[in-house]
Amino acid sequence: MTEPTIAVIQSRFASTDVEAEVWVELRPRIVTTAAWSSEAILDAAAEADAVLAGARPQFTAAVLRRLPRCKGLVFNGVGYNNIDMAAATAQGIAVCNVPDYCVEEVATHTILMLLVLARKLPAALEQVRTGQWNARALAPIPPLDEQILGIIGFGRIGQAVAVKAQAFGLTLWVHDPYAEFAHIRQYGALPVSLEDLASHADFISLHSPLTAETRHLVNAALLRRMKPSAAIINTSRGSLIDEAALLEALNRGALRAAALDVLDTEPPAPDHPLLHHPQVLVTPHAGWYSDAAEPRVRRLSAEEVRRILTGQRPRCLLNPEVLA
Ligand code: NAD
Repeated sequence: MTEPTIAVIQSRFASTDVEAEVWVELRPRIVTTAAWSSEAILDAAAEADAVLAGARPQFTAAVLRRLPRCKGLVFNGVGYNNIDMAAATAQGIAVCNVPDYCVEEVATHTILMLLVLARKLPAALEQVRTGQWNARALAPIPPLDEQILGIIGFGRIGQAVAVKAQAFGLTLWVHDPYAEFAHIRQYGALPVSLEDLASHADFISLHSPLTAETRHLVNAALLRRMKPSAAIINTSRGSLIDEAALLEALNRGALRAAALDVLDTEPPAPDHPLLHHPQVLVTPHAGWYSDAAEPRVRRLSAEEVRRILTGQRPRCLLNPEVLA
């Protein structure tokens, strides 16, 4: 192929130096933008042979239709809910993600949030800061080996969380309608319905992708089932939770706490009520990050673009039917 055009549409990384190194032999024209409106996508990608994109630009059917030369769209992350897969497939665009660049990082971040909530770390720190020194004032703190962790979504990250949580003695319950019960049991976990998990778990951790089916999976009805002593952890996608319903449940004492690495809108408005709620911990979509994960995802996503442009089979093709 003669000197392809590659559009890089993302704001997570400030340069394309890592990517350009992977593409050096293709001698591509690289068009970059950190903006994510439909206009910005079309400005950058209308002539592109391949697109490398982050989570913010929305690749709707209408946008994809206006990328006539595009052979491949590589999402430089895990949750590709910003891409209309059916439309991309109908247009013959190969779509890839990088599903394995930060599994350990996100699982560790999840366990961190669980332990912080379990041991009431914010309250303990606040005590010391205000001149108190009283462990019993933190009660109740039930031991972890008397508590149930409910994992919703048992893919790569859900499984890594299960392995780490077991080391802390937690009892594991899992809800994943697409996972084999036998596979779940191999992790020493009990496969259960969503309703049973919500009613019994002391900690609920979300690890399913954001799809039409999982949007607001945690809604007012599910929150009503949860124990008032329970806490919810979300390191997956913000829109899995109905934030208004979560706030309402916290305010009426129907839920003890929430730890959120992801929100419906990111970055959130500075006055977002969950940011300032005393029972809520928020981190800035940082689960994926480590010094190794960043260059890893950039190299792996750039290599997918290179494979597509040189006629090789991509490593993580999400719509294999386009190559059939
Ligand atoms: P995965 O595809 O390996 O696993 C997802 C699991 O969810 C699958 O087992 C699937 O069967 C299950 N699932 C699908 N629909 C479900 C439903 N309705 N109810 C319950 N389970 C359902 O994905 P993964 O690598 O484990 O990643 C999970 C999510 O984590 C991603 O979709 C992404 O949005 C998010 N993520 C967040 C960060 C971060 O920085 N916080 C980083 C990477 C990934």
